[in-house]
Amino acid sequence: MQAIQNFYALLPQPRKVVITTHQKPDGDAMGSMLGLYHFLVQFGHDVVPISPTNWAGFLSWMPGSSQVIDFEGKKEKCIEVIQQAELIFCLDFNVLHRTKNMEPHLQKSKAVKVLIDHHQQPQEEAFDYGASDTGKSSTCEMVYDFIMASGYADKLNLDIATCLYTGIMTDTGGFRFPSTTASVHRAVAHFKEMGLEHTPIHENIYDNFSESRLRFIGQALLYRLDVLYEYNTAMMVINKYDLMKYDIKTGDTEGLVNYLLTIQGIKLGAIVIDRDEERKWSFRSKGSFDVNVFARNHFEGGGHKNAAGGRSSDSLEQTVKKFKQVIHQYEQELNKNN
Ligand code: 5GP
Ligand code: MN
Repeated sequence: MQAIQNFYALLPQPRKVVITTHQKPDGDAMGSMLGLYHFLVQFGHDVVPISPTNWAGFLSWMPGSSQVIDFEGKKEKCIEVIQQAELIFCLDFNVLHRTKNMEPHLQKSKAVKVLIDHHQQPQEEAFDYGASDTGKSSTCEMVYDFIMASGYADKLNLDIATCLYTGIMTDTGGFRFPSTTASVHRAVAHFKEMGLEHTPIHENIYDNFSESRLRFIGQALLYRLDVLYEYNTAMMVINKYDLMKYDIKTGDTEGLVNYLLTIQGIKLGAIVIDRDEERKWSFRSKGSFDVNVFARNHFEGGGHKNAAGGRSSDSLEQTVKKFKQVIHQYEQELNKNN
């Protein structure tokens, strides 16, 4: 993988371009994909944003979201577009398997592949050019840096700013996590100077759910929460019945894991959701406990030090049992003072 600076010379030549991101895209994935989309179309590129799966309804207000094709919904069309692509941008993921069923098609493609991502241990051999920086708050911040350093900073417009603000804001937990550097605030100040209105973005993301989702959260906190004080750990187990009863859709469970860390003294929060194809884990931590390593070692996942995801093909009961056995090994670490 060459440094992304070497890619800038290719920017102005119109090409067939695909932009993609990880499955079940979050605010940063969708924001970086669409932010880059609004930048690239200005060069006359033919740009198709493809999401490996569907996405949360609370992201569908974003400028350009109607252009995004869901790979699972339109497989034939997407495969054809990927085959014809000359350039493929891979945003907010580090390993190709995070694109789920798109992976073999990306692997087969002869297109020049560009990575922009902030997760640990990227699969460097899969990409021609790339920027990978775990110190960055979000892929959206990296797309902002990419645009500003490209020599075409004049193409930054309000649509781009809106998309990039969304991912920066969601991936920093509302400018709260340690990754929220002075550069993050400078980027946001730049967006504000351009006329960005941030309040509607927060409302679109956080005040856009069904009554049923709120009741689901209530019952999950009441009946599905297990606090393991000896390990400073809180966990939540969501079964299929809950998902059906409350008509839970993609994105409705996002953020639920953060409630676990609001309990005083809790260092590790873990939630497992019984999805059709897998048991999906989300891990969050405070301080030195590294959930990226934890997810990698025990639950086929990864991510960042304080936020990671994983999966299991075991039954819900089995995977929960495994979690409770595994954290036993970390008792000392979870009882440290930092
Ligand atoms: P979430 O719990 O919200 O699904 O994921 C938390 C963070 O970990 C996000 O930055 C997400 O992109 C990343 N992540 C989730 N699952 C995986 C995985 O299986 N592998 C890697 N490398 N990162 C993941
Ligand atoms: Mn991200």
